[in-house]
Amino acid sequence: MKKIYVGNLPWQAGTGELASLFTPFGEVADSFIVSDRETGRSRGFGFVEMDDDAATEAISSLDGTEYEGRALRVNEANERGDRGGNRRQPVRFDVMVLGAGAAGLVAAREARAAGAGRVLCLEKMPKPGLKILVSGGGHCNLTTTLRPQEAEPLFGKEGGRFLRKALRTTPPRVIREWMHERGVETVEEEYEKVWPKSKRAQDVLDVLLARLHDSGAVLRTSAPVEAIRSPDPTLPHWSVLVGGEWLTTQKLVLALGGCSYPGMGTVGDGYRWLSDLGLQVNEPLPALAGLSSDAAWVKELAGLTLYDVELQLREESGKIVRRRARPLLFTHKGVSGPGPMDLSRDFEREPVRFRNLHVDLLPAHEESELKALLFRGSSQPASILQKRLSLPKRLVRVLIERVDIMGIQGAQVPRPLRQLLIQELKGLCIPIRGSLGFARAEVTTGGVALVQVDPATMEVHGHPGLYLAGELLDVDGPIGGFSFWIAFSTAVLAGRSAAAATKA
Ligand SMILES: Cc1cc2nc3c(=O)[nH]c(=O)nc-3n(C[C@H](O)[C@H](O)[C@H](O)COP(=O)(O)OP(=O)(O)OC[C@H]3O[C@@H](n4cnc5c(N)ncnc54)[C@H](O)[C@@H]3O)c2cc1C
Repeated sequence: MKKIYVGNLPWQAGTGELASLFTPFGEVADSFIVSDRETGRSRGFGFVEMDDDAATEAISSLDGTEYEGRALRVNEANERGDRGGNRRQPVRFDVMVLGAGAAGLVAAREARAAGAGRVLCLEKMPKPGLKILVSGGGHCNLTTTLRPQEAEPLFGKEGGRFLRKALRTTPPRVIREWMHERGVETVEEEYEKVWPKSKRAQDVLDVLLARLHDSGAVLRTSAPVEAIRSPDPTLPHWSVLVGGEWLTTQKLVLALGGCSYPGMGTVGDGYRWLSDLGLQVNEPLPALAGLSSDAAWVKELAGLTLYDVELQLREESGKIVRRRARPLLFTHKGVSGPGPMDLSRDFEREPVRFRNLHVDLLPAHEESELKALLFRGSSQPASILQKRLSLPKRLVRVLIERVDIMGIQGAQVPRPLRQLLIQELKGLCIPIRGSLGFARAEVTTGGVALVQVDPATMEVHGHPGLYLAGELLDVDGPIGGFSFWIAFSTAVLAGRSAAAATKA
């Protein structure tokens, strides 16, 4: 792979335009524009990466050719990636966005579309948007059908209030329009979920990338940022250390994600840098993860899914403090599926308060109704549970063994055991050890404390020019497209506010 320097470009040239000059010679692996108006140069320059053979041919064919009234300069870049021997110009951007996940891709696009001149988005991984690709089992549940006011309570009191402006500025209708305008239709399915009709997460990512490229914002991948530096009297701009070089920018948007799925690039860099700046970062913990249980009977049920159940979190007094009517799946490690995953944040945040997950196996039936059905005549409760109440056979066997009424007719079940069976049916108690951790968590709960961020602009109080978006913030919701909604909607505000501030 060779890196090629291209000089004498019009300063407003975009990466797409630069890449298209080279595509006749072979596939362009990466292209990057640096158009520094403020150095007084009327022309810009950029870099292209491609196979050695294609690069050699492109250099000899393009060098000296006329492009918009001036002769292009095309030669091999030196090891540092600049044009060899020439004095390096200080590189200045209007807006830099760190992280090219759901939030970063949108923030960079919005900043550029809102008029910021030079927008650069840096991503450490070789490809952008990796989590989008794996989301929803590769299908990407990109948003919800709920309206902002319906969804707000799902983010908790503080989170809902913080997101109010963001959710209203970018409601699901707008996110679906982004897709529709680029030919990706979306469909609504159960639990208020919205998916691309194709069920291909790649289609969603392609739309976000196309919108980014068309805006003229530049994306650089394989560019791990090592540090950030806040403005000081000697340098009144934000600086970002990447590839051993400090790049400066007027406005900086951090969209670095949280700590979940660390193999996808998210290892908490943003939290570290922001704490170093003196910001309060609430302990990041795994959320939307499966739960582990040591109970042997739970593991015996591995592979079984219960659809019409209500999961409950109870205090020691028995008071129910949280309910979630979503499916539960028994696994070899414990329980998973949307219901347990939605409640996993509570087990992580309050491990002493919550040690058990309770499951109402028959939420549509009152206790009195069940007693009348189960404990009369010669039928055995096991048979009624299976045939009349449609509980799965494997589950019924476990319940009957736990209550110890195998082979007993309904009317013969002793009174204390009747109560025990009803308790199991209306609040099966699953002991929980904890969540399966960051390696298996879809999101992070915790992060940058919201009081430090302006909810109208996503700018950090006391740090002018610094904006945050996405999972980095201490706000998270349940399964159902809400995490992307948080990422997209906070990114729209951050990108637009950063752009507006460059012109102030
Ligand atoms: C398996 C799985 C399935 C999911 N399914 C869904 C779903 O169906 N619906 C839904 O709404 N949500 C889903 N989510 C959650 C959703 O993917 C995230 O909440 C969302 O991607 C967060 O967006 P973000 O841009 O804030 O962070 P991320 O998408 O995590 O992006 C952060 C980016 O920053 C980059 N980065 C980090 N450090 C650096 C650095 N030092 N330098 C440069 N770049 C850096 C990372 O590589 C990453 O690309 C799922 C998550 C997972 C893991």
